[in-house]
Order: sequence, then C-alpha cells, then structure tokens
Amino acid sequence: MEEVLLEWAKAIHKENPVVDAHFDLAAEVYHRRLSGERDVVQRRYLEHFAKAGLNVCVSSVFVPSGDLPEKGLHTAVAQIAALREDLEPIRDRIGIVSSREELNLALKEDRIAVLLSLEGLDPIGTDLYLLRAFYDLGVRGAGLTWSRPNPLARGCCKAGEMREIPGGLTELGREAIAKMEELGMYLDVSHLNNDGFEDVLTCTSRPFIASHSNAWRIHPNYRNLRDDQIKALAIRGGVIGLNACGTIAGAYVYPREQAVSRLCDQAEYLLSAAGEDHAGFGFDLCNGLSASTPRLTFETEEDDLLLHHGETLLLSAALLERGVKEETLIKLIGGNFLSYFQTVLA
Ligand SMILES: [Zn+2]
Repeated sequence: MEEVLLEWAKAIHKENPVVDAHFDLAAEVYHRRLSGERDVVQRRYLEHFAKAGLNVCVSSVFVPSGDLPEKGLHTAVAQIAALREDLEPIRDRIGIVSSREELNLALKEDRIAVLLSLEGLDPIGTDLYLLRAFYDLGVRGAGLTWSRPNPLARGCCKAGEMREIPGGLTELGREAIAKMEELGMYLDVSHLNNDGFEDVLTCTSRPFIASHSNAWRIHPNYRNLRDDQIKALAIRGGVIGLNACGTIAGAYVYPREQAVSRLCDQAEYLLSAAGEDHAGFGFDLCNGLSASTPRLTFETEEDDLLLHHGETLLLSAALLERGVKEETLIKLIGGNFLSYFQTVLA
C-alpha cells in the first residue's frame, strides 16, 4: 500500500465520523473480567479504536447457546453491567450512550459513543415486558434472533450446513417488532432467515438495518443478503454493514492483500446495490471474543480479515486506490450509520 494513500485515508478517518455497527465487545469484556482481567477495553482496544478514528461502536450483547434458555437473561444483564464497569475509569474517552443528545455530545467532546444492541432476543424468552427492561438498561437495538430458532423467529443458518432454514416470524416475533418500534429500539436483520426478512418487510414501519451482513452475489452464504433484500432495506432508509469475517466475506485471512481486496469487492458491491447512502461498516471482529473463553467455539476462529480496528485504514486506502470517491468513502466509513442512529434514537 502506497504511503500517500494511507495518509489520505488517515486524514479522512480523522476528519469524519467512523462507525462500527457491530462488535462483540460486551461478551468479551464479561468473560475476561470474570477471569480476573480489568480495564479490558483500555488495554486491548482503545489504541486500535484511536488509530481508526472510531467515533461510534455498537456493542452487541451476545448470549452463547450453552446459556440458553435458563441463563440467557442473566448473561445478557451481566454483560451490560460488566461493560459499564469496564468503561467507567475511561469515561472521558469512551462511554455508553442511549439518546441522540448523548450521542451528539460524545461526538462533540471527542469521546467514543458505544450503543448497546441485543444479538438475538433470546434473553427475553416469551415476555415482551423484558424488552422494556432492556431498554431501561440502555439497549437501543436488537436482532430478533442469532443464527438459531427462538420463540420469535428463525436464524438464517446452522453452523457447518449450507442450506436455507425456512419459516417466518411467529406472532410473538411480530409483536416484538411493534413493541420495539413503540419503545424506540431499532431492528437489526443480520442473522435472520429469508422468510423472516420477508415478514419484516410487511410488519415494520421504521427503517431497519443489517448491521453485519455482506452481499450474497459476491459470496453465497445464508448470512448474506440477496440484491432484492439489500434494495428493500435501502428503500426503507436502512443501512447494511460490511462484515469482515472471512467466512461471511468469502476470503481467507492470508495473504493479507487478498483479504483486504475481497473486503473492497464486498464494499463496492454494497455501495452499488444499496446506493451510496445505505452502506457502512459492521465488521463483526470476533478473534478477541473467541480467544476470551474456551467455552465459545464458533464455526471458525481467527477468521477476522481485519486483525484489529486500526486496519480499517488499510481498507479505506485500498478503496481510494480503486477509485472510490472521497465523499462516498466518508459515507461508508460512518456517515450513513451515524445519520441512521441520529434518526432512530429518541
Ligand atoms: Zn453476528
């Protein structure tokens, strides 16, 4: 990578909002603090965030299948508490926000704003009152399900199997969406199956996002969205976030240039399919979470095509090299997701 391109990317990231719409931070912080670590974000992430010029990061709250159903609620609440405690000593640099006003204040004061989102509503079981309880804990977004079935919906895939999972939203899933819209929580359709996506189109009135999904056209994987789905999401004012997980983007981590090049393919395709106002970043970097506990075994590990957030600069520089215009890149790196969050937050 030419130094001049990297410097150009660095300047763009410094001067403009940078957003990662999906990062499994709360789960990792919880696991690490349980085993005695402290200041997890400060020691492991703050430097990389600063290098990327990151301004907004959505931390998912992810409950592993082994905790379900009995411990789902416990784990989700404990993850939120652990993240809050971990961020407390560095509140002048990063903190959880739950309103548009808090988000804008964080941006103005150059603090990183963290939004909380439930990656699957499994922790609420069948009780929609718990949506309100999570809202009061600061959660502002949610996907109905992770890649597994629950009382609301079905996930898009089963680890290791390449087949479509049929079945739309349940009645309770539709009611959950209505309740979320009433509360002012945004909906995330990453991990939802195709039938569920169709149902979302008929029962939502607010824009929704796919925080960490790529284009099926570039890499056929049920975690990715077809062109018609990307367009439907965009028409409603949503944003799709570029996923940097190797299995979802369709590349291997090494050689590095090929990994970044594949991410560029996905990013350029998302920009053209969704339109340049509807694509962003939702990197889904998971190496830290996978390493934080032996209990968690995903389909693949050490699969992140960007080794840390600082490498976002390599991606932006590569996109500039391909001829992506600066004003388009500004929207992709965070402008679009920031506008979305500013619109949906109360
Ligand atoms: Zn995910």
